[in-house]
Amino acid sequence: MKVLVTGGAGFIGSHLVAYYLSQNALVWCVDNLLTGRPENLAEYRSSQNLRFLEKDVTSLSIEKLPNDFNLVFHLASPASPVDYQRYPLETMRVNSLGTEKMLRLALKCEARFLYSSTSEVYGDPEIPVQPETYWGRVNPVGPRSVYDEAKRYGEAITMLFHRYWKANTAIARIFNTYGPGMKPDDGRVIPNFINQLLTGKPLTVYGDGQQTRSLCYIDDLVEGIVLLAKSDEHQPVNLGNPEEFTILQLVAEIEKIAKMPVSIEYRPLPEDDPKRRKPDISRAKQLLGWEPKVSLKVGLSKTLDYFQSQIHLKK
Ligand code: UDP
Repeated sequence: MKVLVTGGAGFIGSHLVAYYLSQNALVWCVDNLLTGRPENLAEYRSSQNLRFLEKDVTSLSIEKLPNDFNLVFHLASPASPVDYQRYPLETMRVNSLGTEKMLRLALKCEARFLYSSTSEVYGDPEIPVQPETYWGRVNPVGPRSVYDEAKRYGEAITMLFHRYWKANTAIARIFNTYGPGMKPDDGRVIPNFINQLLTGKPLTVYGDGQQTRSLCYIDDLVEGIVLLAKSDEHQPVNLGNPEEFTILQLVAEIEKIAKMPVSIEYRPLPEDDPKRRKPDISRAKQLLGWEPKVSLKVGLSKTLDYFQSQIHLKK
């Protein structure tokens, strides 16, 4: 089996690369290392089955790539609010032009194509639980629109290739995911909190901390992505953990795991920050037989161990 993963040096991408290498697939990885990190693939550097191209997907010439991939995963994109606002144009281009290129490649190879979309397509939702049929409430000109609208475009062009040219496509709507391999400075809530904890700083809670997120451990998510790639589903599928927590509840969980009291520093809520987010995963359950297994407690402990080991490595 021959697999291409764009964004293969990123957080989710590197776990997907690791999975397919463990299945003895030949894995090509394209990443320009804008937000991805070579250390995420360091373990596999000597693998005969991994080819790494340090390239921007948008300037890639697909004619020069093999035409016998079985699977094409398009994951390349800044993904944290801090990163996509730092690289707004790159975010829009990799999800528009980049998605089109990867769709053309998949079509040429007759490969199954999987687009990594996001719960951000739902924007700041009016409904407490979001099924795939919900069209979302996105501010098209707000600071998050460079990501939200780019991902919505990415979904639209993926469906276009499926409808008009019968491309074999899948769309994963990925909800908040965490675990080993996240960049310590990527700005998302779990790496922020864990780093603050490990460096003795107060945890920065934005707004009143009553906004909710549903947090999925990386191993669960990768299993969902792999199952979706194996299926023949073309419509979007939510992948995430339906257990919903407020940010203050997350602080309390971290406090319990760390077994030490933490202090909180309240900061202003970023513009358009969604107030609640919880996936309806009925479709994933029914179509893929998938649901997350790792509790927040177990996932957080593993993530804390990872960040601790990174600090020791640097010493
Ligand atoms: N958040 C927070 N403190 C931080 C980072 C994030 O309170 O240091 C909040 C943020 O306002 C949001 C939630 O945590 O409500 C999740 O933010 P994240 O950046 O992880 O991802 P998002 O779901 O917003 O894309």
